[in-house]
Amino acid sequence: MPRDGFGREINYLRISVTDRCNLRCVYCMPLNGLRFLPGPELLTAVEIEQLVRVAVSIGFAKFRLTGGEPTLRADLLEIVARLAAIDGVGDLALTTNALLLPRLAQPLKRAGLKRVNIHLDSLNPATLERQMRWGNFAAVWDGIMAAEAAGLVPIKLNVVVAAGYNEEEAVELARLTLERDWQVRFIELMPLGGGECASLSIQRYVSNIETRRRIETALGALTALEQGDLSDEARNYRLPGARGVVGFISPVSEPYCGTCNRMRLTADGKFHLCLLNDDELDVRKALRSDQGTQALARILRRAVELKPTGHHLLEGRSTQVRSMYQIGG
Ligand code: SAM
Ligand code: SF4
Repeated sequence: MPRDGFGREINYLRISVTDRCNLRCVYCMPLNGLRFLPGPELLTAVEIEQLVRVAVSIGFAKFRLTGGEPTLRADLLEIVARLAAIDGVGDLALTTNALLLPRLAQPLKRAGLKRVNIHLDSLNPATLERQMRWGNFAAVWDGIMAAEAAGLVPIKLNVVVAAGYNEEEAVELARLTLERDWQVRFIELMPLGGGECASLSIQRYVSNIETRRRIETALGALTALEQGDLSDEARNYRLPGARGVVGFISPVSEPYCGTCNRMRLTADGKFHLCLLNDDELDVRKALRSDQGTQALARILRRAVELKPTGHHLLEGRSTQVRSMYQIGG
């Protein structure tokens, strides 16, 4: 397994397949001024497969497709099928807003997808529409049900908590775990990309310390679960008598850089070395000039070696070049 310059074992690649989205969450995508990648700049399904084969050959085992909204990629099923067929792809997951899952969940499962993380900020339709803007609670819920029925489990829900939007609703979302075998994970806002979404992410930041207090006050003490996978960015807990798990992803209040095991690939073929820094290494050029698998493996190894550690979120600084929808979370 490749190790970075800080001795961390890096075996997890998150692959963004598009920068487009059918939602405009307030902290992720502005309503105006968006410029999306032209189609020819996106890595093709074949190119993504080539890179994953190289990643597997040097020790990567976990893969996640993300975006933008990955379900908008017309060839998503082909991408999943190509990756699922590779020996050594141990885990293949998808991060999605679930809107298109009623149609896609079964075909994705058949193509070889293992599980999904679904983004849902509120159980209250009005709050959800305010925060995820073009969102529609009933449609997201139908998507979650479709994923569960298709066996894309365990269902993990990602909740981004923003002051003045949904901070009061953490309790109802956590309550879902009492009856359901789901993992509901609360994520702290991160200011990426330097624009209006970054400013909002700073102004509306809510610490997970506060979210946890709110949940425990309403639903009882959370019991810490053993950290099975040390590189899991979530700290996991259980409510009294609950079937599911409540998780906290706290990059600002409790940074987890020391156990980070991730590399990110942008939709236009750059290894983005850390979510919260700007450093990137181009791999598309090598792919398209037919430099061969040895050259691709060298670039990926170099990306791992150069992976930085630490961030400046507490000072309100982060990556300036790309926003969350251009990296994939
Ligand atoms: N569209 C898919 C979705 O929303 O799940 C995948 C891409 S989205 C960029 C991946 C994750 O990033 C989502 O769970 C979303 O909640 C999270 N996210 C977006 N902007 C964020 C921000 N400013 N701070 C923290 N998380 C953010
Ligand atoms: Fe789209 Fe996901 Fe960003 Fe929301 S968080 S705008 S669903 S990419």
